[in-house]
Amino acid sequence: MENLIRLSKSCIGQEEKNAVLNVLDKEFLGMGEEVYLFENALSEYFGRPTVCVVNGTAALHLSLLACNIGNGDEVLVPSLTYVASFQAISATGAIPIACDVDPVSLTLDISQLKTRISSKTKAIMPVHYSGGVGNLNEIYAFADRHKLRVIEDSAHSFGTIYNEEKVGSFGDISCFSFDGIKNITSGEGGCIVTEDNEVLNRVKDARLLGVIKDSENRYVGNRSWEFDVLHQGFRYHMSNIMAAIGLEQLKKIDKISQIRRSHAILYDKLFKNCKNIQYLSHDYTKVVPHIYTIQYKASIPRNEIMSNLLEKGIQTGFHYFPNHQLSFFKECSKQTLAVTDSIASKLLTLPLHPDLTENDIRYVASEVIKLIEA
Ligand SMILES: *Cc1c(COP(=O)(O)O)cnc(C)c1O
Repeated sequence: MENLIRLSKSCIGQEEKNAVLNVLDKEFLGMGEEVYLFENALSEYFGRPTVCVVNGTAALHLSLLACNIGNGDEVLVPSLTYVASFQAISATGAIPIACDVDPVSLTLDISQLKTRISSKTKAIMPVHYSGGVGNLNEIYAFADRHKLRVIEDSAHSFGTIYNEEKVGSFGDISCFSFDGIKNITSGEGGCIVTEDNEVLNRVKDARLLGVIKDSENRYVGNRSWEFDVLHQGFRYHMSNIMAAIGLEQLKKIDKISQIRRSHAILYDKLFKNCKNIQYLSHDYTKVVPHIYTIQYKASIPRNEIMSNLLEKGIQTGFHYFPNHQLSFFKECSKQTLAVTDSIASKLLTLPLHPDLTENDIRYVASEVIKLIEA
């Protein structure tokens, strides 16, 4: 469809195109100077060391491994997340323990931690749904009391502020995604932000097949020839092409955040008096929204709403199909997840990306209201 209002998209300018051409001209496409520069720019942004990897899932996977989480261990994670969070946990041999979410923020319900923790629990993976972090203070307090690691799935929350600090700039380990539709993109890509030197060294080596200290050589265009390997490794490094895109996107983060926020604020305003539409009540002076999700009350099935909207040129989606309902992860929840099970089919995600105009948002909102409030 020609005038389709897309749910999400990469928003790329001439700057990113030039940066990629520049890397292609240099004919050094793998991990080298651009990755080094992108990591430095991110470290400066967060005020903490940052390691770039090939995607957000790899960031989560390597972080878990660096915490020595594996076979037989358990990680507490909300069921309402992208399957990436669950797959990253199960890839280590650990079991993702599906937790329920708070019905208002759609982030991990902290009362669940008490009922799901066991002697095998090693970590909590909170998911910053749509950019909000929920009650992260309490998650850290619980983790402290029980000596658990916290690996934040921060994929949705690049730019969000919590307790006056950027997500990623505090806490244990924070993992971001730079896939094509995230708040900033490097094509694919992701990063790990932490102050834990042991974790930093482990993930730096593990992204390059476990070759010890290969990163330092790669940064300056070399590689290690004679080396040792101490741990399982992967081909999870970022390429210069990706980093070149990421560097340009990072320069635009203030502008991107401002547009995403103003679109979400406008949606909120347009839905304010709707009885059947509940939106996430984010404080947009703090949260940078990655997705704009509503919970609706009408009895009309979601796939009908979605296909009706598509006929009007509006692409929608939903976040997420709960992980504990997937065949591969159905063993991950021994108790029922009342909130997740009852709201999952009533979630709808509306278009949100920086290339939308105010008129697009008004048009989407009016079509949604026609269907759901009728
Ligand atoms: C995007 C995303 C990821 C994974 O990131 P990739 O870069 O796509 O691997 C993980 N968790 C959530 C919640 C995401 O939205």
